Amino acid sequence: SVNIEVIPLLDAIDLHFLILFSDTEPTGKKQLAGDNQQAPVNHINDEKDIRIERLAKDLVQAREDMRSITEDQEAVNEELQSANEELLSGSEELQSLNEELETSKEELQSTNEELMTVNQELFDRNEQLNMARFYAEAIVTTIHEPLLVLSEDFKIKSANKSFYKTFLLTEEEAIGKILFGLQGNGWNIPGLSSQLLRIQKGDEKFLEWELAYDFPKVGQRTICFNAQPVQKENAANWILLAFNDITERKEKEKTEKKNTEHLKKILENMPQITLTAAADGSITYFNQFFFNYSGMTSVEAMGHEWKKEEMIKSDMFDDVVKCWRQAMASGEDFNMEVLLKRKSDNMYRWHQGRAAAIRNEEGIITSWVGAAIDIHDRKTKEEAKDEFIAIASHELKTPLTTAKAYIHMLQQSMEKSNYKDLIFAQKAGASIDRLSDLVGELLDVSQIQHGKLPLNITTFNFNDMMADAIEGAQYTSLNHSIICTGHIKEPVTGDKERLQQVVINLLTNAVKYSPKANKVNVHVAEENGSVKVSVKDSGIGILKENLDKIFERYYREEQRAVHFQGLGIGLSICYEIIQRHGGKIWAESNPGKGSTFYFTIPK
Ligand code: ADP
Repeated sequence: SVNIEVIPLLDAIDLHFLILFSDTEPTGKKQLAGDNQQAPVNHINDEKDIRIERLAKDLVQAREDMRSITEDQEAVNEELQSANEELLSGSEELQSLNEELETSKEELQSTNEELMTVNQELFDRNEQLNMARFYAEAIVTTIHEPLLVLSEDFKIKSANKSFYKTFLLTEEEAIGKILFGLQGNGWNIPGLSSQLLRIQKGDEKFLEWELAYDFPKVGQRTICFNAQPVQKENAANWILLAFNDITERKEKEKTEKKNTEHLKKILENMPQITLTAAADGSITYFNQFFFNYSGMTSVEAMGHEWKKEEMIKSDMFDDVVKCWRQAMASGEDFNMEVLLKRKSDNMYRWHQGRAAAIRNEEGIITSWVGAAIDIHDRKTKEEAKDEFIAIASHELKTPLTTAKAYIHMLQQSMEKSNYKDLIFAQKAGASIDRLSDLVGELLDVSQIQHGKLPLNITTFNFNDMMADAIEGAQYTSLNHSIICTGHIKEPVTGDKERLQQVVINLLTNAVKYSPKANKVNVHVAEENGSVKVSVKDSGIGILKENLDKIFERYYREEQRAVHFQGLGIGLSICYEIIQRHGGKIWAESNPGKGSTFYFTIPK
């Protein structure tokens, strides 16, 4: 028999029960058997008390235990709580650690990306480097100049194609060999080793050294050696050596020098003023004739004392300087008539000043050669002649006009009376007309010379003017028919009479210089706001070299025009008239086949 007691433990945090198992029967029975009736009751009571007391004690014990358990529990709880708190803070730390890790990861990622771009850049650089090396190698091999790379003991490390080609060597003969020992010590060039040593030691950064040497197989050559140190990583001093073959240039310089000396000799002995100037126009030389003529010293002449000394007539000085500078700037010939003072009698004499540029092979001006030729006597004679022509033609004009008028009147009266000698009067009339034209031309020439050719500007019908001119020319040439084509729509402004004179002149020339032909073609057209007239004949033509000269005063193609009458002034008057109109006149020709004269004037 078991006694089960269940006691609730109220002091605990959670609800607990104390369960007591106790053996009740045996003790009870024994006592019951040995004691009397009262005694058993007391005995039972005592037992109860004892039990209660024991139970109370147990209870106290249990309570004590409970309390300690509770305390333990509380302590555990606290520990648990602090552990929990620690866990919580641990977890927070973990979270922040995690975040740090996250940022570190991102950083790593960006670093990785940077590394990748750096890697790419490195790759690109490497490519560029390779390209550069490739180019450098290509340049060295194809470069025209022979090139060598020498090691510190002057052994040939590499050479380009040009080296082998120029010095007739093979790769086997050169690579790895000492430079001076090449071709059986044929390269023991005096002085080269000491020059190269200076480069090697760093005494010199760059070497440029000229030497004429008799090379094996190729013979005497003048070489300009160019050397430069090539610093290797291991600090070994290698040398880059280039050979510039200047043999031809030197030869050329020598001949040029010889030529210059030759020229100087010629200039020195000329009985006229001669000079040379640098490309910029500054005088570098005068011959002795100049010093004798001018009385200047070399210092005065070169030191620009010209103005002070009044060597050039003072009112001409600025024009001469201007013309000289213009020639220097354009490279065209200097050509001018100047008055230069002769020291012996202080007389200004006319000189024809000329200078021409001397150019090198590239066409660049290197210097100027000039001369001043005394044309004083010729010029004064020409002036006297011009003056005479002016006076004579003027004096001739008046009686001629009178004679012409009388002949005209004579013709008219003879015509009326059917006089049989009319033919003589007509011929006399034609001759007087011709004489009158000649005198007119001479007058024009002298007027042109004095800059006094008058122009009478009006606006007129160009086609009518042409028709009149053709009619006039046709009247004098019965064998040729003058055919005119083209038309000018608008009126033209200019000197009608003078332009007609030009056309008549071209037409009479066309007829005169084509005796075997029977046709002259005239064409008028409008071109870019200008009037263009052409007169084409099938006559003797003009030589190409004379096409410009025929417009000069008194110029005639003497050999070819010998059978034709003329003074060589008609075209010069035409030239002046057209120029005064702001136009142009020129000729084209096929000698033996004919010529075409053109002129244009602005409408
Ligand atoms: P000229 O009175 O001698 O004809 P111009 O001044 O008219 O003088 O002409 C100059 C020179 O030009 C002539 O002497 C002649 O040699 C040449 N010339 C002019 N026109 C012609 C032409 N149509 N055909 C060939 N030669 C010409």
